[in-house]
Formats: sequence, structure tokens, C-alpha cells
Amino acid sequence: MLVINGSFGEGGGQILRSSLALSIVTGVPFRIDCIRAKRRKPGLMRQHLTAVRAAAEICCAKVTGDKIGSTEVEFVPGEAVGGEYSFSIGTAGSTTLVLQTVLLPLVLAKEPSTIVLEGGTHNPFAPPFDYLQRVYLPLLNRMGPHVEARLEKPGFYPAGGGRMVVDVTPVKYLDGISILERGELKQRAAKAVVSGLPRSIGKREVRVIEKHLKWDDGETRIVEVERPVGPGNIVTIELEYDNVTEMFTGFGEVGRSAEAVATHAVQQYQRYIKTDAPIGEYLTDQLMLPLAVARSGEFRSTGLSRHAETHIELIHKFLDVCINTKRQTDGEVTITIDQQAID
Ligand code: ATP
Repeated sequence: MLVINGSFGEGGGQILRSSLALSIVTGVPFRIDCIRAKRRKPGLMRQHLTAVRAAAEICCAKVTGDKIGSTEVEFVPGEAVGGEYSFSIGTAGSTTLVLQTVLLPLVLAKEPSTIVLEGGTHNPFAPPFDYLQRVYLPLLNRMGPHVEARLEKPGFYPAGGGRMVVDVTPVKYLDGISILERGELKQRAAKAVVSGLPRSIGKREVRVIEKHLKWDDGETRIVEVERPVGPGNIVTIELEYDNVTEMFTGFGEVGRSAEAVATHAVQQYQRYIKTDAPIGEYLTDQLMLPLAVARSGEFRSTGLSRHAETHIELIHKFLDVCINTKRQTDGEVTITIDQQAID
């Protein structure tokens, strides 16, 4: 049995989620200890527990240690079986992160799936639903499967209550992809979403974007959530190029001004357009997983985060794959994933 020390590198939830996904895909059982050791509250929280149980359900795995606060889990996977699944976190925990755990195995199952996820859909420190739909899934779909996600209700921290549905048409294997250039800019758009909060917050946010990016008001919009479950606010700036779509997000929170939320998204956007690498920070760590499973692919990234470095180390524990990182002086990195060792 493979033993993973959950405290290495980033020492967070991604080590657990990716271990679960990789274990199912490879059939390799594992034990993980020191789960989320580098987080303020280590061990399994609701989102991680839901991820463990969801992973177990889709492949009839044998699991021990699946309880709140647990810092050790043992997981013996079976074969992933597509079907109708419903996973409810029970708190505002991130549904997109639970999806990250089960999506790859279900993309490679023999049968199609429909997955209903309930909880938070727009959480800080996780991909918001819009990012999943507009950035991640189009790239995954270029690798062969057809995955479509729809948001039925947005859920923000702390009320949660969001719901999304994901339809998966699987494939036998994933094709690698190459994304070395952005291509032409096709469209740009910014959005401020307010849930149960005054529209004026959204107005102040789009004003910051229009002023700093010199965009006109046709490129920005305000969305007011109908019948909100609880208060929430998010700002997204989206750039759609020929070869990739990237998105930069600011999350509203109590005590943070609308201007600060929008400025956070603007700053990420500015960092991205200073370079010409197509793949931004978050997409770098997320894209690595399906490409490693495909055992083929290459992309140029704005830089390697600690998350991404941790992910590379973890992937190597499960897969016999070569992930080569070539850094340029400006911090950009070209990542090549191959079955063969590369000099
Ligand atoms: P932890 O369990 O450690 O508290 P976590 O479960 O939230 O944290 P992390 O290990 O921090 O998980 O991983 C978060 C994931 O969310 C990473 O894959 C990262 O790329 C992604 N992510 C975080 N913020 C964004 C964002 N604004 N847009 C897109 N993806 C994001």
C-alpha cells in the first residue's frame, strides 16, 4: 500500500483529493496521514469528508478513517462506475473541489454520469463555478470527454445552499494537449455578482474595473442572484483567447470593501497580462492532473506555485510519468508531460 505523508509541500486538501482521484484511476490503494497538517484546522473538514465518501461511492472502495477531524485515511479503490450521483456537503464547503476528486475517475468510467453537488459554489481558495465552466472544462473536453456543468443555484460562504449538475460523457483514455500560446483575444468580460446584497456593491466593483482596465460598460455587467440563499459577492474578469480562457476572481467578505474585492481581481489580471504565457497560476496546478493521467501534454505557465510543485511530487507517487519543468528567467515555466524521461 502506498503511504502518503499529507504534510509535505503545500500540506493542504489538494494532496488528499488528488490522491483519491489518482488511486481510483490507477487502482493503487493508499494510506494518507497528517492530512492537511499545514492548515489552521488540520484533518478532514466537511468538504474533504464529502470528497472521501464521494470517491468511495463511485468505485465501491474500502475506506477507514472517514470522519470529521480525522488525520488518517486508508483507501482501497475498486473500479469507477458511472451513474447518477448526488453529493451534499451539508455546509458551504466547496462543491468544485469535491468535483475535482471524482471527475477524472468518472471521465474514464465505462458509463456516463450525472453528478449533483450541493454546498458552496463560489468559495474563496477554490475554483468558483464560473471558472470550472469557462476555464477548466473546455480544456478537459479538448482531451476527449464531454463534460457539461450547469449552476442551478449559487451558494456562498457561510450560508451555502448552492447546487450544480454535471453531465459526463466518458472516454476510454484522455488525449494530451499542447497549449504554448494564448492565440488572439476573442472576448473579454467582467462580472460582479451580488447575492442578497445591494446592487450598489456590484456597481462600485464594475466601476473599479472600468477605471483601471479602461474597459467600457458594455464589457462589464452586474448580476443579482434571484431568491438568494444567503449573502455573497464575487467579481470575475474573463479573457477568452483562441487557445485558452483565463479568469481572475475577487471574493467579497465581511469587512472587505467592494473596491478591495474588485482590485484583487484586477491585480491578478494585471500580473497575467504582463506575461504572454497562456496558463495562469491556478490552472497550472489543476491542468497537471488530467495531463499526467493522459501521460502526454505540454503547456506554458506564468509560474509554478507551491500547489503546483506539490502536485507534481504527488503525481509521481502514483504514476510512472515524467513531468519536466523548464523555467525561463522571467519566471515563466514550460511544463512537458511524457511517458519517457526527457533530458
Ligand atoms: P485546505 O483543505 O488545505 O484548507 P483546500 O481544500 O481549499 O484547502 P487547497 O489544497 O488549498 O485546497 O487547493 C485549492 C484548489 O483550488 C487548487 O487547485 C487551486 O488551484 C484552486 N483555486 C484556489 N483559488 C482559485 C481561484 N481563485 N480560481 C481558480 N482556482 C482556484
